[in-house]
Amino acid sequence: MDCNIVKDLIPLYIDGCCSSESAKTVEDHISKCQECRELLEIMKTPANIEEETIPNKFGRINLWKASVLQSVLLFVAFGLIAIGVAMEARTPLGLLNGYWAFNLVVPATGLLLSLTTWYFVRLFRNKKRFSDACSLITLAIIICAWIWAMMHYEASFINEPEILFASILLNSMGIALTVIFCFLSKVLSNKYAKLLGKE
Ligand SMILES: [Zn+2]
Repeated sequence: MDCNIVKDLIPLYIDGCCSSESAKTVEDHISKCQECRELLEIMKTPANIEEETIPNKFGRINLWKASVLQSVLLFVAFGLIAIGVAMEARTPLGLLNGYWAFNLVVPATGLLLSLTTWYFVRLFRNKKRFSDACSLITLAIIICAWIWAMMHYEASFINEPEILFASILLNSMGIALTVIFCFLSKVLSNKYAKLLGKE
């Protein structure tokens, strides 16, 4: 059998796409021909896999978009924290003490820290599970930050219903931002996972 014909058949043989007669022909030939045997070994080795791990042009554009999305969110969240801290510093002590901490710094901190979850995207089975986890983690971090802020400002309204009601009104912006950030976290993490090729 001519080597050139076998060389044409080798890719089909590796993929298991040729007929059993062709497969037998290839096997018979490579048992006798060292050159074709070596070619088969080379084509079987993971050179092809290496090529697949290097993203194509389309894949690279999506990787760019995903990284830009993550970076923009980091900057936005950090910017909101910086604004909140600056506003808080300008707020005089009194009833409004802690207003900007609770209403802006706490939810923005949750958004910022929830982005660490994005590094674990490959561990999730699909993009829905990932985005659900992201929004829950955002909520969990905001609640932790809220508890921390309550301890820091020694908030003691829990025992007094009227003050509790006033506090909820006073913190309505923070509550609204918590809902918005959890929703944003879900939508954008889903988009991020999609860009990285998650089903
Ligand atoms: Zn040969």
